Amino acid sequence: MNRLPELIFDKSKDGKIGYSFSGTEFSDDLIALDPEQRRTDIEDFPQLSEVEIVRHYTNLSHLNHSVDSGFYPLGSCTMKYNPKINERIAELQEFSAHPYSPLKLVQGNLEVMKTLEEWLIKITGMAGFTLAPAAGAHGEFVGMKIIRKHLAGLGNPRKFVLIPDSAHGTNPASAHFSGYRVKEIPSNADGIIAVETLEEHLDEDVAALMMTNPNTLGIFEKNIVEIAEVLHKNGSLLYMDGANMNAFMGIVKPGDLGVDVIHLNLHKTFSTPHGGGGPGSGPIGVAKHLVKHLPVPVISKRGDQYHASYFNEGIGRVKNFYGNFLVLVRALAYLMALGKENLRKVAEDSVLNANYIRKHLEDYLHLAYPSKTLHEVVFSDKGLDVKTLDIAKRLLDFGIHPFTVYFPLIVHGAMMIEPTETESKESLDEFINAMKAILKEAEEDPEKLTRAPHTTPVRRLDEVQAARQLVLKWQRKQIR
Ligand SMILES: *Cc1c(COP(=O)(O)O)cnc(C)c1O
Repeated sequence: MNRLPELIFDKSKDGKIGYSFSGTEFSDDLIALDPEQRRTDIEDFPQLSEVEIVRHYTNLSHLNHSVDSGFYPLGSCTMKYNPKINERIAELQEFSAHPYSPLKLVQGNLEVMKTLEEWLIKITGMAGFTLAPAAGAHGEFVGMKIIRKHLAGLGNPRKFVLIPDSAHGTNPASAHFSGYRVKEIPSNADGIIAVETLEEHLDEDVAALMMTNPNTLGIFEKNIVEIAEVLHKNGSLLYMDGANMNAFMGIVKPGDLGVDVIHLNLHKTFSTPHGGGGPGSGPIGVAKHLVKHLPVPVISKRGDQYHASYFNEGIGRVKNFYGNFLVLVRALAYLMALGKENLRKVAEDSVLNANYIRKHLEDYLHLAYPSKTLHEVVFSDKGLDVKTLDIAKRLLDFGIHPFTVYFPLIVHGAMMIEPTETESKESLDEFINAMKAILKEAEEDPEKLTRAPHTTPVRRLDEVQAARQLVLKWQRKQIR
């Protein structure tokens, strides 16, 4: 598709209809739309045949790039292929219960939740979990609230949260909204946090450090055990952003490293299609001393019955009902289908795939940090005649979704590439070859890049205006 499709209004011809029962014993009134369901604000309502309507919307649906249509190496987002079987299982009618159903009628749903909690506890080595938060950022907020509750219980919630300069933007936002001020600490030349740097920033006002591991450069924070010790000696806590858990699940347990609170992104690591803004899930795992502060409801099993308890010393309720339940179903289906051994293989393959790309491109692109990387790799546009954005736009002409651009912020002109474990060697090679072809063009015909994309329905957009003046639905005046 390389042109903007015609509007449905332009395709309209007076008198065309989807179907008609005239001349039969049925009357058209039988199937006519209820007047209440008609859009009276559209005066020239389009008139088309059924097949034209089906094609119109099917073609529109193909305008979006998706994991199902091509490679999608958007770093930090883990745009992996999610097995369709998980969707089938989430569709099972047995799971669709009314949230006010008596608990004795939804024992199976509660068992799904409890079993998933147990899996996550085993994977992370934490003592307890809540499945309530609806996204990673929501999990961060809940986790920081738990930390605040714990510290307040000891007499002083403290004032500051330390956050590395490589952090995901949601970290400072979550710290702020849970009542803390944020202090940024710099990464060292290896792209990680040095213990000495942490010590320089540590005093009795520091509540916690929020650390992403592996961090957004794809680098393992190898000082984490010492960092946890230094923090704990200071009475501070270690929050781990576990959105990148696909890099070492089945290999390392954050609980063993001294982490007090962790969030996971089920919609990244544990299978749920995301990117379209659909429901997500950001469970929180906590160390033993924080279990009593988990939000309610807490699911427990007594005898052979599951219960939901609303009484603890926790932070209260953080989400209506039980979280995004069907995302939990998908995660459990994913885990049970893979099994323990293959979970480790997910991590190994995601690291292998990222390093395969790194190895093939590191002679062509500047590596921001030479340290070993895990599940993603960050290059920069340093030394090139074109910019990161030009390369990203040109990738669209090759049918490939661009990598993440200009993030993490500490890398000027960053290209953050995460292939994920679900890609084959063939698709990785296709990406590598596209990148090499583009970099050759950058030398020979840079304008081809600066004017890209050439084959998409729309070309370069004014991204600032697109962000500031959102047009989310069709309005006659704006488009025509
Ligand atoms: C995606 C991500 C988040 C935020 O998760 P959401 O579900 O998008 O709110 C936080 N930290 C890191 C490192 C991430 O990649």
